Amino acid sequence: MTPPLQPGRREVAVKLNIYFRMLVLVFGLTFSLQLIMFCVLYLADRNGLLQSEQNAGLITLLALLAGGMAISLVLTVCIYRLALLPMRQILHAIDQAGQGNFNVRIKTDDTHEIGLLAANINKMLESLGSLETMRNDFIANVSHEFKTPLASIQGAAALLQSEDLTPEERRRYAGLVYSSAKRLSSLSSNILELSKLEHGEVQVNKSEFMLDEHLRQALLLLQSDWQQKGLELNLELPEVKYYGSDELLMQVWLNLLGNAIKFSPAGGKLSVTLEKLPSAVAVTISDEGVGIAPADQKLIFEKFYQADTSHKTEGNGLGLAMVRQIISILGADISVESWPGRGSSFTVLLPEVQ
Ligand code: ADP
Repeated sequence: MTPPLQPGRREVAVKLNIYFRMLVLVFGLTFSLQLIMFCVLYLADRNGLLQSEQNAGLITLLALLAGGMAISLVLTVCIYRLALLPMRQILHAIDQAGQGNFNVRIKTDDTHEIGLLAANINKMLESLGSLETMRNDFIANVSHEFKTPLASIQGAAALLQSEDLTPEERRRYAGLVYSSAKRLSSLSSNILELSKLEHGEVQVNKSEFMLDEHLRQALLLLQSDWQQKGLELNLELPEVKYYGSDELLMQVWLNLLGNAIKFSPAGGKLSVTLEKLPSAVAVTISDEGVGIAPADQKLIFEKFYQADTSHKTEGNGLGLAMVRQIISILGADISVESWPGRGSSFTVLLPEVQ
């Protein structure tokens, strides 16, 4: 970005800019006047309007005018070329951006229209540059996430071709192919879903429903997971009628509950509480799991970010990014509190209670 000019330098730049324009004007006008005079005298002489004894003086005057014109023309062109320098830089920057180079910047001290234009183009180049970085990071992350399950499928499929496998080995390799394919499928559908959410391509169908029942349904969908871990449920779900998108909210609950189950130790406690506030409804999902370090708490809503790598293969780091998008679409709010080694608590504040 073009650094803002310091006040002292700014004044000087403004003054210089004015002098510069005045110079262009003075030299341009001088040149034009001289040209007119030259033409008038030349035509008058050709038409014999001037006396022959005046010819010597006239020739000297014409020569002086011609010399003056040449000097004015050269000075006007030089000053004008200097004045056009920022324009040439702007054209170069636009040309570079067209070729995909967003690192180029326009350097100018101009504080007028050209300077503003240059500063705005610099801002645009900066945004395009960061979008390009995000796009490249996204591609790198997607490729990386796809690589591991694909390699597992390839390895297991190669092993399955062998004739002398025991039934147990065959089952194990087939299982590996199945789980890796399932991971790929969940990854691609999450990427697709996230892209739809980011581009506003999801329908927000609102209806009235019982929020407490809705949360119980989410827990029911994940019953086999929390039962397998032997988690103890602690539910505080008073009756709350809510008007909103049950479909989108279900995705939020499934992601938050899924994480709470995944990061909980066997036999841990999973709490879900629902509280009606004056102008919102608060839903809190807490666990007694591994927790999240303070530095990671700011990053867990970013795409592909996984703070705890011990469960890396059970997710793809897109769940909370989707939750954040949905929360923003619904005009809601989400916050996290966590204590490493002791657990985490996610609170969703839903607006518009009825
Ligand atoms: P993932 O598919 O890895 O679960 P998410 O986007 O849902 O991806 O979560 C991002 C990261 O946030 C997780 O990898 C984990 O490190 C951290 N995280 C999310 N929820 C919890 C939780 N309840 N307890 C501990 N860590 C969590």
